[in-house]
Amino acid sequence: MARIVMKFGGTSMAGIERIRAVAARVKREADAGNEVAVVVSAMAGETDRLVGFCREASALYDPREYDVVVSAGEQITSGLLAIALQAIGVNARSWMGWQLPIHTDTAYAKARIGTIDTVALDRSLAAGEVAVIPGFQGLSGDGRVTTLGRGGSDTSAVAVAAAMKADRCDIYTDVDGVYTTDPRIVPRARKLAKVTYEEMLELASVGAKVLQTRSVGLAMKEKVRVQVLSSFTGEDAPMADTLPGTMIVGEEEIDDVERQLITGIAHDKNEAKITLTGVSDRPGSVAAIFEPLATANINVDMIIQNIAHGSGSTDVTFTVPAADLARSIETLNQARDAIGFGELIHDTRVAKVSVVGVGMRSHAGVASAMFTTLGQRGINIQAISTSEIKVSVLIHEDETELAVRVLHTAYGLDASEAA
Ligand code: ADP
Ligand code: ASP
Ligand code: MG
Repeated sequence: MARIVMKFGGTSMAGIERIRAVAARVKREADAGNEVAVVVSAMAGETDRLVGFCREASALYDPREYDVVVSAGEQITSGLLAIALQAIGVNARSWMGWQLPIHTDTAYAKARIGTIDTVALDRSLAAGEVAVIPGFQGLSGDGRVTTLGRGGSDTSAVAVAAAMKADRCDIYTDVDGVYTTDPRIVPRARKLAKVTYEEMLELASVGAKVLQTRSVGLAMKEKVRVQVLSSFTGEDAPMADTLPGTMIVGEEEIDDVERQLITGIAHDKNEAKITLTGVSDRPGSVAAIFEPLATANINVDMIIQNIAHGSGSTDVTFTVPAADLARSIETLNQARDAIGFGELIHDTRVAKVSVVGVGMRSHAGVASAMFTTLGQRGINIQAISTSEIKVSVLIHEDETELAVRVLHTAYGLDASEAA
C-alpha cells in the first residue's frame, strides 16, 4: 500500500465524460489498496473565462475579489469528481482549500503556500475515503480565499504530497510525459524516462508549461517524487507504480550513459523587449533603470548593454514579462530624469528559445553550436543570457517554431523514424 497524490489538469477534467474516466482511474488506484488524495484543475478554458469576467467588470479589479471568482472553477470540478466517484462505489469526499486549510501568504492572485493542515486530510484517508482537493486555491492569514498563479494546481498537488508524506505525486495531463521539447511543436520530440529536478526547474522557468515552475522548486526542496503521465489512456493502461510516464529525479538517479549534452528545449512568447537609447555611460545609470522596475515588482530577464563609442552614452536592452510591459514603460518614464535616456523602444514580437542540460557544465561549445545553427538558418539573435545549465536567445516571434525544430535536430534530440 502506498500514499499517493493524483493530480488531473484542465483537459483531463473538461466535461462529465472525462471526469467519469478520471474517477475510474482513481478507483483503480484505490482498489489496489492505495491511500489516495486527488487534486483537480478547473475544466479547460474555465479559468480563462472567469479571468475574462473580472477584466470585463473592471480593468482595475481588486485581486482579493479576482481570487474569489477564479478559484470557483476548481470548486466545481472537485464536487463533480466526488459525485462521479461515489456513483461508482468509491467513498469520496471533497475538501476546499479553506477547509483543510491550505495556508498561503496574502499575495492575492499569486499566493505562495506556507503550511497545509493535514488533520482533516489524514482523518479522511484513515476513514478509507478518497480526498478530493481543488488545486489552485488557498486561504490567506486574513481568512480570505487566495489563488496560486496560473497553472498553480501542480503546486497544490506537490504541496499536498509533501504535507501528507506521499510516496508519489502523479501529475496526469494530456501528454504522456516530459518530452525533449513541446511535442505539439516538434512531432519528433522524444519522451524522457527521467529528468532531474534542476533541469525541469530550468525548463519550466523558460516556458515548458507542462509543470508550473513553483511546483518543481517545491518538489526539489521537499524531495517529493513527481511523475508526469497521461490521463488519456484506456483501462488497460499500465498502473502508475510501474512508472509509465516521466519521473523527476535527483541527479544521482541518472546514469552517465543516459545523459545527453542537452536535455530539452523550451520557448516562451510571453516576453517583451525594451531598449533605452542614449543612456549615459557612468556608474549608477544601470541601477537607475533596474531599481524602479524591481520596486514595481517587475522581473527583468535578459539584459544587454552596448559598449559606448566615445559619445559617453550607450543603449541598454532588456526583457520583461509581456504582461508587465505597460507598467514597465510607465515606471521607466517616471524615472526618466533620474536615468537620463533618449528614446524608449519596445517590441512584443519576440520569443525566447532556451536549451537546457546539466551536461553543459562539463562540455564547452553548447552556446556556439546554438548560435551557428540559428545563423545558418538566417535567424537573428537579439539578446543572449546564460546560466550554468541553460543558454537562452531572444529572436523574432515568427521564427520560434523553426528555431526550436532546427536546434532539436542539431543537438541530436530527434526521435528516430522507427521509434
Ligand atoms: P494541464 O492542463 O494538465 O495542467 P498543461 O497544458 O498545463 O496541462 O501542460 C501540458 C502541456 O504542456 C502539453 O499539452 C504540451 O503542449 C505542453 N508542453 C510544453 N513543453 C513540454 C514538454 N517539454 N514536454 C511535454 N509537454 C510540454
Ligand atoms: N485552473 C488554473 C489555471 O488554469 C490552475 C491550473 O489549472 O493549474 O491556471
Ligand atoms: Mg498545467
